[in-house]
Amino acid sequence: MINKSSLSRRHFVSMSPFAVAAINAGNAAAEESSIPSPDYTIPENGFHGRDENKRDWSGDPRSGKVVFIAHCMLNQNARIVRAADFPAMFDPLLDYLQNKQIGVIQMVCPELYCIGLGRRDVRVGLEHPAGMKRLQRLLDDLVFTIREYLFQGFEVVGILGKDGSPACGVIRTWLEDRHQDGQGVFIRELKKRLIAEKLEIPVIGVADHKQDDAIQWLEERLK
Ligand code: SF4
Repeated sequence: MINKSSLSRRHFVSMSPFAVAAINAGNAAAEESSIPSPDYTIPENGFHGRDENKRDWSGDPRSGKVVFIAHCMLNQNARIVRAADFPAMFDPLLDYLQNKQIGVIQMVCPELYCIGLGRRDVRVGLEHPAGMKRLQRLLDDLVFTIREYLFQGFEVVGILGKDGSPACGVIRTWLEDRHQDGQGVFIRELKKRLIAEKLEIPVIGVADHKQDDAIQWLEERLK
């Protein structure tokens, strides 16, 4: 909850009307609930894609390489009940990425974002019009970020989905109460967006206990 009185006037005045409206709405909602509504505003006019914002990134030690990974590879606590395979992270994969100095972008967990931590029937929730609406909002943010990195000349090494998931599966998913070949809902929609936006980013699936396959793929990709 943003406390309006804690903001300096200068800060407040310099904010966009959208942000001010969001704060006002949040304060009004606080009357009814102590949990603030998140602001899902997406920059409608976009500040990416403008030549004057294109910068020279060679003046510091950054690697210039990023990879997008499924949320639960960094945070198993987002998994559906009884589905965490590790206490916290995909350690071998993350060790590898750290050694290779690749920046890690943790994608939002689509299941948590659309249907919550205590979710039950994932596909029903995600495929519901309300779930799909939230999913598209998430994809808007993700595609915006990908485009911005590419526009600024960074290398987007790939997108790592989580095989076996009803949302993030790339070649294996959970469907009709069993694991089978196929895509998760999030990956299916993401791929559609990548094609529509003409973004050629490889999307691969990483299974919990086959992280070595992903490491091998990254090794080839980074040659
Ligand atoms: S929806 Fe994706 S990120 Fe979220 S827990 Fe499932 S596999 Fe992980």
